[in-house]
Amino acid sequence: MWKDESLKILKNYFGYDSFRKGQKEAIENIMLGKDTFIIMPTGGGKSLCYQVPALLLEGATLVISPLISLMKDQVDTLNNMGISATYINSTLNNIEIDERINGIRNNQYKLIYLAPERLDSMSSILKMNNINISLIAIDEAHCVSKWGHDFRPSYRNVQGFINQLVQRPRVLACTATATEIVKEDIIKLLGLKAPNVFFTGFNRENLNFKVFRGENNDKFILDYIAAKNEENGIIYASTRRETEHIYNMLCKKGIKAGIYHAGLEEDIRKEMQENFMYDNINIMVATNAFGMGIDKSNVRFVIHNNMPKNLEAYYQEAGRAGRDGEPSECILLFNSGDVSTQRYFIESSTLSPDKKTQEYDNLRAMVDYCYTSKCLRKYILEYFGEEYLKKSCDNCSNCNNDIEEKEITLEAQMIFSCVYRLKERYGISTVVDVLKGSKNQRVLKLSLDKISTYALMKDYDRKYVEEITNKLVADGYLITTNDEYPVLKLTLKAVNTLKNKEKVYVSVRKVKQVQKTEDGLFTILKALRKSISEELNLPPYIIFHDSTLKELSTYMPKNEEEFLNIKGVGESKFAKYGERFLEAIIKYTEDNEIKSNLSDYSPKEQGETKKKIKSYYETYELYKKGLSIEEIAKFRGLTELTIQNHIFDCVLEGLDVNLDDFIPEYMEDKILEVISNIGASKLKPIKEQLPEEVDYAAIKAVICKHNL
Ligand code: ADP
Ligand code: MG
Ligand code: ZN
Repeated sequence: MWKDESLKILKNYFGYDSFRKGQKEAIENIMLGKDTFIIMPTGGGKSLCYQVPALLLEGATLVISPLISLMKDQVDTLNNMGISATYINSTLNNIEIDERINGIRNNQYKLIYLAPERLDSMSSILKMNNINISLIAIDEAHCVSKWGHDFRPSYRNVQGFINQLVQRPRVLACTATATEIVKEDIIKLLGLKAPNVFFTGFNRENLNFKVFRGENNDKFILDYIAAKNEENGIIYASTRRETEHIYNMLCKKGIKAGIYHAGLEEDIRKEMQENFMYDNINIMVATNAFGMGIDKSNVRFVIHNNMPKNLEAYYQEAGRAGRDGEPSECILLFNSGDVSTQRYFIESSTLSPDKKTQEYDNLRAMVDYCYTSKCLRKYILEYFGEEYLKKSCDNCSNCNNDIEEKEITLEAQMIFSCVYRLKERYGISTVVDVLKGSKNQRVLKLSLDKISTYALMKDYDRKYVEEITNKLVADGYLITTNDEYPVLKLTLKAVNTLKNKEKVYVSVRKVKQVQKTEDGLFTILKALRKSISEELNLPPYIIFHDSTLKELSTYMPKNEEEFLNIKGVGESKFAKYGERFLEAIIKYTEDNEIKSNLSDYSPKEQGETKKKIKSYYETYELYKKGLSIEEIAKFRGLTELTIQNHIFDCVLEGLDVNLDDFIPEYMEDKILEVISNIGASKLKPIKEQLPEEVDYAAIKAVICKHNL
């Protein structure tokens, strides 16, 4: 029965245990021989919907894809999993193409990726050689529509191509675009026959959305990256100049960054993109020119240094994070200048008046996103016309209370009156100079020290005054003009505040203790993956996804059977890389044992349990002295995980440990709730239902504390 077979394929080739939402249904429809239309968000797993049937069906599957740069990637990925696939596009020379066509004649491939420009020449080859095509998959199907965001004229030939085939195969169209007009267009222009449409919704559970207004962006970005320990991320800025500025700032700090915008030479762009794909650099600073065709799965965060022009653009760019389904962050840094930049783009465009009005409406909705206090995920989904039934998602800055309201009425009044006394003729830095009572030449020369608000805020930190002034701009109390020398002006809102003595609140990001993502074994495995990637000239994520390395470093499999249970490990990948990764894991566990032996001063003959007992007593002693887990781990040369386990061993033995230290504030009830729903026998499913910051230690602590 093909249903059991499809699960086997999923496990053995792809290394996954279950289908994602929509995949099973779509595959079933394809297997019934019907036409199929899949609308899934980026990263939803559309490729699997034709790759699995390709293996189940007789003959070959043709995949039409517009992204030449991705074909090699996809084919490498498949070959690496032990699936025979090939591609034909303009990057190959004639000899290579002939070779591959020979392979196609000999029915050597289960999947054949084709650029749409190749359809004409391919159709005669298929006919002449009587090649059995059982499925045609059209990826990025919105490219056929002029209404989509990426129209490709050559996609218009697809229908003709299909109709010429001796036997019409079943057809599958895939896209992430779901507007009604594009959908109808695709069905018509590809000639889909009564397709069943599978729409899984736009929600991307693994993405955490955050909006911060009036931050000092440079500082935010540097702090953020410093805490991220070489994770991959994209920083989008709205102008080339700004990308250059951020790029230079990162390079100066020794951060491995790249830059990408349309003003750079073709080969530089290509090199930057490749460096990013191959993990040679961690951070890409880019304009919106970067993205189409980026299939890198392990992008852990996307920061927008500026607000984009509308939510479609934002969701698409932010959505490049977390394609592998792992928790990832999408952060928008909003400054009020962003609105004027976007207004300027619209105003100076050649759009018709109607279209301009439309663009202004879209911009309005984007700005509202930056100010809304409701769930950000709900806001986005409802914007796209999708119902989101939950009131909060627990995975955005509004639901997670990442931001707090802070009253700054007094400070705001001082700033407003200073702007007023300066007759609204100076920019932020002069206003702050005056408030701080600066004695700099300019201030003295202009006699600004004679102004009544001079030195009014001399006891405040300069950075702080700047920061709240920015926030007052972001929240519409002040505006900065759009001139060459922008000056601060009061808005009606500020005047009302001064008159009516209304309180002023601004939103302030709660500074949480950022947990540095660090894990000894994970780092080792990443390095191993990198060196294999260089040997084979394959991007690292094709070898194993980050999520697979994370699981490997958490579960530390010791043999083939355990290794094959890890998500993303199929038989072919195990055969290729299993040994080397196993070796590294075993070495790591042994190395750590050796260290703990040394600190025990215990002779080799001592029994296993005795060593452990001694070891955790030593941890306990340090713990009692008030050292943190991190400090103990450093001190003892062990991993934090090991130290945590020691502490829990102590709890089991009845020693006094304050378990609350392990449980993040406010999270205890949430953890208990999940446990009461699904039991406490397995930690992983519990963790999966909780916010990212809840780690295994927290869950274990709750279980111990409540004797579950
Ligand atoms: P899309 O084309 O819809 O943007 P992809 O087909 O590229 O998404 O898949 C995104 C990621 O999800 C890939 O890394 C893929 O391996 C992974 N994936 C797909 N299906 C599953 C599944 N059933 N279980 C786990 N991971 C999956
Ligand atoms: Mg895809
Ligand atoms: Zn939310």
